[in-house]
Amino acid sequence: MTLLCVPLVGRTVEEMIADAAAAAATGGDMVEIRLDFIQGFRPHEHLPPLLRGCPLPALVTYRPVWEGGQYEGDDTTRFETLRLAMELGVDYVDIELKVADKFMSFISGHKPEKCKLIVSSHNYEYTPSCEEITNLVARIQAVGADIVKVATTAKDIVDVSRMFQVMVHCQVPMIGLVMSERGLMSRVLAPKFGGYLTFGILNATKTSASGQPTVEDLLDIYNIKCIGPDTKVLGLIANPVKQSKSPILHNKCLQSIGYNAVYLPLLGDNLASFLETYSSPDFSGFSCSLPFKVDAVQCCDEHEPVAKSIGAINTIIRRPDGKLVGYNTDYIGAISAIEDGIGGPGSKDAASSPLAGRLIVVVGAGGAGKAIAYGAKEKGARVVIANRTYEKAVSLANAIGGQALRLEDLETFRPEEGMILANATSLGMYPNVDGTPIPKKALCFYDVVFDAVYAPKVTRLLREAEECGVKVVSGVEMFIRQAMGQFERFTGGIEAPECLMREIAAKYT
Ligand code: NAP
Repeated sequence: MTLLCVPLVGRTVEEMIADAAAAAATGGDMVEIRLDFIQGFRPHEHLPPLLRGCPLPALVTYRPVWEGGQYEGDDTTRFETLRLAMELGVDYVDIELKVADKFMSFISGHKPEKCKLIVSSHNYEYTPSCEEITNLVARIQAVGADIVKVATTAKDIVDVSRMFQVMVHCQVPMIGLVMSERGLMSRVLAPKFGGYLTFGILNATKTSASGQPTVEDLLDIYNIKCIGPDTKVLGLIANPVKQSKSPILHNKCLQSIGYNAVYLPLLGDNLASFLETYSSPDFSGFSCSLPFKVDAVQCCDEHEPVAKSIGAINTIIRRPDGKLVGYNTDYIGAISAIEDGIGGPGSKDAASSPLAGRLIVVVGAGGAGKAIAYGAKEKGARVVIANRTYEKAVSLANAIGGQALRLEDLETFRPEEGMILANATSLGMYPNVDGTPIPKKALCFYDVVFDAVYAPKVTRLLREAEECGVKVVSGVEMFIRQAMGQFERFTGGIEAPECLMREIAAKYT
């Protein structure tokens, strides 16, 4: 079982002891005491109370500046401190590979049986090839490590796969972590690939390396105690990704039905290379968002017809035969939300849709704009596309048989009463919450205003529409409904727990 280790980076012994208690209370299995963070550290005075006051098994690390730590003194004092920690009964000691031989001579190869020696190597620049990592592991083993630790840095999310490949084949206990936000999956999936431990911080101010998740996220959102070799990997590939609520939503829902899968935020740079690299059947489904929805069409072997017509994919499923199938659940999520907002439940039959015959102005011609324009047309609406880049509005309008409009003409566009407006631009989205695609005074031309933006829940557009007495439909509705469609595809047809999704969306969006 992979241990959950909480790094302690307190500036005083008292803070360290308080944080160790917090680590135990939040569910950590062990702590890493980073002695190099303690100001004015005096080994003989500080170490005994520190180790006595620690309620969990402890790893002592005294990281020098030359390996990314804060200790600036000489190695002999450092080695003496680590030897003292061993004599005081500490469970683990970490020593850097660069001086491991020297340290072994210093302790004459003797250490208490209880104490395990972690020999570590940190690369803050990049992640080497599999062969180089394997050689590094062999060198670490050769100096007498009980546990091998290799930490590298992800420049691209695909770099993490090399660490996974080495870890699964490693014959000795190994900690293999890839730093930076692009390396997050190395930390969450450590139990899947046999990692000895993974680090979880108490909160964002208590980090000891880049890309560390909190203990709470690891236990509560990613449920790492239930991750094992057979756990399926799902996730949202996007850039940026950390603002997304999809990991909370999907993980909670997967957990509620006991489905053995974990859903990760995947900060990607190139969708094709991501899918090619993580090609095993266990990497079984992905949501894709900005900027990959259009690229995803090329990356899939097969497509749901609607997704191909829209030209944007937000869900990719890897079938057992390895083929990638693309879907678009944004389309049905947005359209059904708008239909319900108009006042009648959605229907597959265009003739009975409340959108049939209505004029809808879709602002935006990106992935969401295409999905809404295509869906509205399917339901029999007359569609007008307005977009900042007018040429894209024209191209989408031509593709679906609609009309194009310049964004600046929205202010005076009023061919008839009772129109529907759908914002599918990122205007108004956090952090630029003052943005809106249309002046307030023009909102009274509309019966219903829908905003695809769901963070914040009430955008400036929706607030101003409400102030004009117009019915509004929030992007949260679309978010929930597109996620329900994804969940059903991820799980091979299990109905999404809608009530739970609504509860989570209400709490976190
Ligand atoms: P996208 O493919 O990148 O398209 C972005 C659209 O926004 C384009 O039409 C772009 O116009 C326009 N735009 C961007 N910045 C603008 C600005 N400053 N002024 C005017 N127009 C601007 O993105 P997307 O995937 O369609 O997403 C669009 C929005 O929908 C995002 O806010 C996203 O969060 C939201 N969304 C919500 C859900 C949900 O579940 N609620 C699902 C999907 C998307 P140009 O063509 O001129 O660049």
